[in-house]
Amino acid sequence: MLAIKRENKRRFADFARRNDNFTFDPEGIMDVQVKRLHEYKRQLLCAMHIASLQLQLHDDPNRDFTPRTFVFGAKAAAGYKTAKRIIELLLSMQNDINNDPACRGKLQVYFVENYRVSAAEAIMPAAQVSEQISTAGKEASGTGCMKLMMNGAVTIGTLDGANVEMYERLGDENMFLFGLHTDEIARLRQQGYDPARVASQDWEIQRVLDRFSQGFRDGKSYSDLVSMLLYGGDQYMLIADYRAYADTQKRLYERLADEDELARLAIMNTAKSGFFAADRAIREYAQNIWHVDV
Ligand SMILES: *Cc1c(COP(=O)(O)O)cnc(C)c1O
Repeated sequence: MLAIKRENKRRFADFARRNDNFTFDPEGIMDVQVKRLHEYKRQLLCAMHIASLQLQLHDDPNRDFTPRTFVFGAKAAAGYKTAKRIIELLLSMQNDINNDPACRGKLQVYFVENYRVSAAEAIMPAAQVSEQISTAGKEASGTGCMKLMMNGAVTIGTLDGANVEMYERLGDENMFLFGLHTDEIARLRQQGYDPARVASQDWEIQRVLDRFSQGFRDGKSYSDLVSMLLYGGDQYMLIADYRAYADTQKRLYERLADEDELARLAIMNTAKSGFFAADRAIREYAQNIWHVDV
């Protein structure tokens, strides 16, 4: 399994060179979030965690760190301003982190231009971690999650959309769940959720948001995104879920540091993905919804 992933990452590196003239490092774990850019899908939550990892590497360049590359692929709808700002942020981070000596050989960010099916065909087989971190209750189903599972990527995700059915098959041993559930979000909102207060009690969140406001090496400030989170109600609960997300990332990468476990997780994910075959889904539709014999 690891040899196959290595070969597929090498092929993805060829794609990255052709598509973006980008030098992808195939040595680290390939951690992907590929899907339309939308606030509920929370690419910004992933960005917060990456910014924190960079700061942690600054704190202590010699700390134990499993090398990884975060790959994003996402298109934004034409008039969706916030989505475009998040893409801009990811590009600022890519530019900063990939030129940061403290991150060399450890942390890389790659935003794939023009995410499309042919890009997905290069990304999915190479992916090792799948980010399915939408706010609980927001994703109707999702299909990318299953494509990645089938290709042996291990999922870090919320109990949302098709992640629920994946979890029923994978269990805690083979999938990394975190975050508030739909009913918990409703309850928290009812009790009065104050993201600024939650942020003020978490030093890591504060540090990341300060970094976004200050900006990266291109000097662009993202204080508009920060204000939206702290004072705009944080509609998609990024601040509420950050602590659980960061802790689960840590737990996941501690497991992935062991190559046997990395291979086992990949094999288990592919092995358990048969349920998501189109044949089974169509058969159930035929029987239960269309009422035709097959
Ligand atoms: C699968 C796929 C999607 C949908 O991804 P989700 O994670 O389910 O939102 C979007 N775009 C492309 C190109 C895909 O292949």
